[in-house]
Amino acid sequence: MEGQELEGQKSKLVIIGGGVAGSLLAKTLQYLAEVTLIDPKEYFEIPWASLRSMVEPSFAARSVINHKDYFTNGQIITSSAVNITETEVLTADGHSIAYDYLVIATGHSYAVPKTRTERLNQYKAENQKIFSAHSILIVGGGPTGVELAGEIAVDFPGKNITLVHKGSRLLEFIGQKAAKRTTNWLKSKRVEVKLEQKVDLGTDSDEIRMYKTSAGETIRADCHFLCTGIPLCSAWLKETMLKNNLDGQGRLRVDESLRVKGRKNIFAIGDITDVPEIKQGFLAHKHALLAAKNLKILMMGGRESKLATYKASSALAIVSLGRTEAVAQFPFTTIIGCIPGMIKSKDLFVGKTRKQLGLEPDVVHD
Ligand SMILES: Cc1cc2nc3c(=O)[nH]c(=O)nc-3n(C[C@H](O)[C@H](O)[C@H](O)COP(=O)(O)OP(=O)(O)OC[C@H]3O[C@@H](n4cnc5c(N)ncnc54)[C@H](O)[C@@H]3O)c2cc1C
Repeated sequence: MEGQELEGQKSKLVIIGGGVAGSLLAKTLQYLAEVTLIDPKEYFEIPWASLRSMVEPSFAARSVINHKDYFTNGQIITSSAVNITETEVLTADGHSIAYDYLVIATGHSYAVPKTRTERLNQYKAENQKIFSAHSILIVGGGPTGVELAGEIAVDFPGKNITLVHKGSRLLEFIGQKAAKRTTNWLKSKRVEVKLEQKVDLGTDSDEIRMYKTSAGETIRADCHFLCTGIPLCSAWLKETMLKNNLDGQGRLRVDESLRVKGRKNIFAIGDITDVPEIKQGFLAHKHALLAAKNLKILMMGGRESKLATYKASSALAIVSLGRTEAVAQFPFTTIIGCIPGMIKSKDLFVGKTRKQLGLEPDVVHD
């Protein structure tokens, strides 16, 4: 690996994962290095806009963004990374891509289609499912299940919604106060909340949708949405040279400059890291910008002592509750209602995220 960038010879940077962190990093460094972005889908999607897109499919036109729209000066490989060596990344479709610097940003992966058009059509189908159902079962009371319940309750107030969660309270990733207030808000919107129960999804039949729960209850619903936690995308690393850098939860151990521990030229950013903080997109953005800064220093032959260091953030989270309200946990207080709603719920930071990628906040050219 050459530390110094030579005249006309840029460092080779490979970014694995085109999610929140990887996309911003690719956009930021595309003119400073020879960048390759590896992602199994052709687009980046703003994850926190996905629930709004289910009740309003046209919303996805701005939040599902082809990689080639913001990353115009580099190579995109539409495949999954399956292995890494000291010098190369190998992909499922048989590519081997040489790197001087590597960044791993494979946070989470959802079973989503490969193309943007297919993804937009999927939102239309999900919207149709919601539209034609009288009763809807949502399984999982984390941020995804709660936000989906909020979106449907506000946009389709006539639907009977049941939210079932296996834990003893909703939103276990943040404080009790936020969970309690959220439960009350949902109840005020006629959402039935059932805690400490699991749903047996094998029990329903197509004609009469009856779902059995672990507490022996039967829930009648015309359709269901599964919003349970999604595992980290680190299983593929278990057979690689980085296997010993994974902690018990499958997170990559990083040092304070966000390099994988013990590695000089491999960074990890976003949800995949073991940084002790709530896994959030705005923090994944912070990681990407810090890694970009450090990569620039290294590529220009700068000293290790010049590398910027990352400090874990304190607990801060906003969960939207429909179009105008939200529940927010700040370091010293928890609030619910229109004030946190004004921060997040109207546009869900979509315009802001598009701007960060160098795109117009509103205009979408199809
Ligand atoms: C419903 C929902 C609501 C949320 N709300 C908020 C919010 O309001 N505010 C906030 O800050 N955060 C929010 N988050 C959290 C936020 O989305 C994550 O913290 C963020 O997406 C993490 O970014 P990341 O780049 O680490 O991973 P991801 O965004 O998960 O991206 C990982 C990427 O890696 C790709 N990948 C996976 N495996 C491979 C492989 N082997 N090879 C190549 N590519 C691979 C995936 O396809 C994906 O593109 C929310 C999340 C969800 C699901």
